Amino acid sequence: MKACTLLSQIKTDIKKYHDLLPPPENKPHDNSLESILSHYNQENFRKIMDLKCEGLEENINEEALADFKNRIDYFFSIYAPDDLEFREFIKLISIYLSFIAKKPLHPPGTVFDNGKKVYQKGPHFICTGKNIFQKDEESLCKYCVAKNEE
Ligand code: SF4
Repeated sequence: MKACTLLSQIKTDIKKYHDLLPPPENKPHDNSLESILSHYNQENFRKIMDLKCEGLEENINEEALADFKNRIDYFFSIYAPDDLEFREFIKLISIYLSFIAKKPLHPPGTVFDNGKKVYQKGPHFICTGKNIFQKDEESLCKYCVAKNEE
């Protein structure tokens, strides 16, 4: 499957969430991880809906994509088993980030509880916690473009 086909599928599946999102002028309420992630999700929703197929010729690794979806299902089965609608929304945003936009799953500016953080250095995304978090069972870090700090 080409990246363009994947984008079309994401657009078709994600547009139903449009009315659930706050207006674009809404900024994060605070610096909490929840607020930053919520804003990142909204921003990426709008990018998905605006994105055109030009240049999206890359072949998607469908085995990796299936594994990625399974990992998200695993994560939600533990932390939010009843929130199926939110799970599907996050799954679509995350697929877009990892397989199309090549942006990290946690945005630059994220600071985790253990003090590890995500930041951008030139064209690269750095996550100082990747070498820790990627050891978690079914970790999504495997498919995240953020790199460990050298
Ligand atoms: S490497 Fe893992 S913890 Fe770091 S931004 Fe990516 S998904 Fe988040």
